[in-house]
Amino acid sequence: MPEVRLHPNTDALLDYSAGSLSPAQAVAISAHLFYCPGCQAKTRTLNAIGGNLLANTEAVSVAVDCLSDVMAQLDTVDTALPEKREINNAAPQGDRWKNLPPLVKGLVRDSGISWRHLSSSLRVARLPVGERRFELALHQIKAGGSAPAHDHRGLEITVVLHGSFSDDEGVYHQGDYITREPGHIHTPVATANTECVCLSVLEAPIRLVGRFSRLFNPFLSFMPV
Ligand SMILES: [Zn+2]
Repeated sequence: MPEVRLHPNTDALLDYSAGSLSPAQAVAISAHLFYCPGCQAKTRTLNAIGGNLLANTEAVSVAVDCLSDVMAQLDTVDTALPEKREINNAAPQGDRWKNLPPLVKGLVRDSGISWRHLSSSLRVARLPVGERRFELALHQIKAGGSAPAHDHRGLEITVVLHGSFSDDEGVYHQGDYITREPGHIHTPVATANTECVCLSVLEAPIRLVGRFSRLFNPFLSFMPV
């Protein structure tokens, strides 16, 4: 397997370590960590530094009845199980789904997977993580197929889970963590001999450019859950 080349920056790992990322971003970082021993080590260090900072923080006195207040509030939390959602399709089978990062595997298992075909070579399945700012989804491009050219009004993060793809800036392999800033235009193309599956985090609707735009834009409306 080629070495992972593209990594989240230290700020993103720090936010992950501090637990301050949104759920979709955290899933993307955890997917990258699954493939990247270097970032795993960096995250362990950041966790240790964070733990030390907490340990050395001066104790703040709290009201005597603080604990009982918290326990009383916990008692008021509605613990009823959420309504069970209907699973549209069984989890996908095959080699490419066996080695998914655990968090992604869990999401696929829990919500099932419902593909929408965006073209003959591209399909997408949303992974609901209960947030409004970002949409988390799997994209699958057939071997040698391409996704329509598109630009972004917000941040786009892509983690390659299986296979590889390329665009005008390079070739991306399993584990690569690719960040695209707003305004960037690209046309991802899967490698000729194998299909590509990616995890993507979208901050805002992507906008197709060129001849596909009228055809596909309605399907790509941003639908965070
Ligand atoms: Zn890394």
